Amino acid sequence: MKNKNERTLVLLKPDAVQRNLIGEIVSRFERAGLKIIAMKFLLPTKEQAYKHYVKNEEEIEALGNRSIEGKRKNGVEVTMDPKVLGQSIIDRLVEFLSHSPVVALVLEGSNSIPIVRKMVGSTEPLNSDVGTIRGDYTIDSYALADDDNRAVRNLIHASANEFDADYEIKAWFNDNEIYTYKNIRDAVLYDERFN
Ligand code: GDP
Repeated sequence: MKNKNERTLVLLKPDAVQRNLIGEIVSRFERAGLKIIAMKFLLPTKEQAYKHYVKNEEEIEALGNRSIEGKRKNGVEVTMDPKVLGQSIIDRLVEFLSHSPVVALVLEGSNSIPIVRKMVGSTEPLNSDVGTIRGDYTIDSYALADDDNRAVRNLIHASANEFDADYEIKAWFNDNEIYTYKNIRDAVLYDERFN
């Protein structure tokens, strides 16, 4: 059965907040038809940031492998152990997220997980398409970020799949901070007739 209520977790990372892009980014999601069902502004603890990125031990190596794949696309061969690389990226992300406020939100809507990922664009700003959030508002690259020993500045995190979305929503929100409500757009977006 098609699910109109698929949920996804979005984080506006410190660079989005610092660059005054909160409204711009949130309004893109609103205009797409996604419904905000939870939203908060907070300074994450190191533990919260770590828990968000490390769902299980395999995630460390998987992140390293995704990074190696991304670099390969740029013609850069990496010989580093994926687990070591993954851990160093996580350390940099934890440092980044726990030093300046972020916005966390839960978006709901049909296929919200793949739709939001499409709107966000690919991980490395150098390669994210024009028209995506990362493509339109960022100019960073892995090479520059790695040289400076920091996380690549790509403004935003969005859940990659249903498992991650469930886990991440629980990591950032209590049940009583999430609101289920009717929105007039729902009828226009999904119903055959508006009445
Ligand atoms: P996402 O789902 O598109 O955010 O991508 P990943 O889950 O693969 O990576 C998580 C985050 O780690 C990214 O959003 C980047 O901020 C950062 N990151 C990933 N790969 C690299 C890398 O090779 N170098 C640096 N400096 N940061 C990286």
